[in-house]
Amino acid sequence: MDFRLTEEQEALRESVRDFAREVVAPVIAEHYEKHTFPYDVIRQMGKMGLFGLPFPEEYGGMGGDYFALCLALEELARVDSSVAITLEAAISLGAMPIYRFGTEEQKARWLPKLVSGEALAGFGLTEPGTGSDAGGTQTRAVLDGDEWVINGSKAFITNSGTDITALVTVTAVTGTRPDGSKELSTIIVPSGTPGFTVAPGYSKVGWTASDTHELTFDDCRVPADNLLGERGRGFAQFLRILDEGRIAIAALAVGLAQGCVDESLKYARERHAFGQPIGNYQAIQFKIADMEMRAHTARLAYYDAAARMLAGEPFKRQAAMAKLHASTIAVDNAREATQIHGGYGFMNEYPVARFWRDSKILEIGEGTSEVQRMIIARDLGL
Ligand SMILES: Cc1cc2nc3c(=O)[nH]c(=O)nc-3n(C[C@H](O)[C@H](O)[C@H](O)COP(=O)(O)OP(=O)(O)OC[C@H]3O[C@@H](n4cnc5c(N)ncnc54)[C@H](O)[C@@H]3O)c2cc1C
Repeated sequence: MDFRLTEEQEALRESVRDFAREVVAPVIAEHYEKHTFPYDVIRQMGKMGLFGLPFPEEYGGMGGDYFALCLALEELARVDSSVAITLEAAISLGAMPIYRFGTEEQKARWLPKLVSGEALAGFGLTEPGTGSDAGGTQTRAVLDGDEWVINGSKAFITNSGTDITALVTVTAVTGTRPDGSKELSTIIVPSGTPGFTVAPGYSKVGWTASDTHELTFDDCRVPADNLLGERGRGFAQFLRILDEGRIAIAALAVGLAQGCVDESLKYARERHAFGQPIGNYQAIQFKIADMEMRAHTARLAYYDAAARMLAGEPFKRQAAMAKLHASTIAVDNAREATQIHGGYGFMNEYPVARFWRDSKILEIGEGTSEVQRMIIARDLGL
């Protein structure tokens, strides 16, 4: 058993850390404040090859693996979560479904653009009326000759409305199974298809420099060939995508938790109260010690889940535990980091204010904490 990183993994971590500090940190607060998408940062991430991390070289990828993506996400989120979630969603929710389930033609058409970061894709599962209970999907797709006709709407879809969004994959009811349950399938809808409308961006509490929209499909027609993988496999496809995605979200949460330690350490040395740096007080030291411990244990949990996944072993329970634990401790660390910063922690110009606002969604997106507990309990046979 060895939890140490290889030289190559360490080098990737360092280069993303430098990028986050030198390129993301100086500009992100303004994007966050103005709710603008950081196109220039995303373009530079594309040039670095970050969008291609877990994809083979034949599609323009870096030939790395999912763990490499997690390392990059952790280092980005240590500085900013809007940029990190843009990368996470672009790969894990955007390009990965096409890579895993697409035909050779679909891969050849879409992956090179997505893997280079020139284009982004969204993954439309959640609807205004249903999220955790994805079986409640109402969006319908009916085959009419050689076209799917899609009607319905999707809520909270990341990366679905940027200037460089190329497509969204949409889950839709495509029929009824013999046992009366819904047949779900996944269909690729290119941006700009008539009948596909992207609503203006939401006003969000956090992740304000990331892109999230409600989508509407009104007699939206796409070629029958835009079916992703087999008809009726929609449920199995998104379960696989979400299982993997949980490891990536756990890595992102660990990054935010570690960023809280970084900022708190710095502040505890600088800020004086009662004649000495607040870091001299045991109450502050213990907070930071606990924050570091939480980030460390959550990191081990996602390393373990990723290792099992890459070894081809079952990893559903470990991914759910990693996501549940990492998101919980990210919220804890953000709360404590804000406390250590006193009144300045409540000012948006301090990074910990962003960490605080960005932490809560980690307990909600890609499966709420309750859903993670349901998955763990079910895997334990309950
Ligand atoms: C910024 C942002 C980005 C997102 N990006 C995407 C995206 O790219 N693609 C996408 O498809 N979705 C996306 N989502 C949606 C996200 O995954 C859902 O919001 C999430 O899964 C929860 O679904 P919901 O909001 O419908 O809550 P609900 O499912 O309505 O849940 C409400 C509450 O009830 C609880 N609950 C539900 N069922 C049970 C149960 N059986 N037992 C106990 N408690 C239960 C939940 O845990 C929660 O606390 C995004 C959301 C946000 C906010």
